[in-house]
Amino acid sequence: MSTGIGNLTQYTIDLIAKRGITVDQMAKLLRKVQSQYIPDLTFEQCKESILMVMEKREVQNAVMTGIALDVLTEQGHIEEPLASILKRDNALYGVDEILALSIVNIYGSIGLTNFGYLDKAKVGIISDINEKRPGVVNTFLDDLVSAIIAAGASRIAHRHRDEENKENKEE
Ligand code: MG
Repeated sequence: MSTGIGNLTQYTIDLIAKRGITVDQMAKLLRKVQSQYIPDLTFEQCKESILMVMEKREVQNAVMTGIALDVLTEQGHIEEPLASILKRDNALYGVDEILALSIVNIYGSIGLTNFGYLDKAKVGIISDINEKRPGVVNTFLDDLVSAIIAAGASRIAHRHRDEENKENKEE
């Protein structure tokens, strides 16, 4: 059955949804962070951008790997001392952020600014993910979701700039 969306893309979207974050939620937050630069940006454009990011193989690889580590930690399959580090989401660990950077970097350096903002400000769903709940480990998830939104934002920023350049040439 062909739905126009790749199998692995759908699998990855479902994986994030099972951890409590939907494409629509990511699209909403993307619109929020990017609308200060592009006021007429629509929800549909943001959703399309999130889906385009999710189609990338390096994004799927990073998401599968990070969520697997969160889930294995919850299930008690990770040995010490790593298990405690992941449960505490120790700020000095940093591998969660490094993995997420492989997503941020696919659309160049604009993504890095947005990622830094989302990671620091912990707005909306990102702060929900970070809320400590007993037995839940989302050490990788918060960075992965921030990175997908940041990549979606830089994809939109690049396209917006290209269109503006085109308009300037035509004038
Ligand atoms: Mg983290």
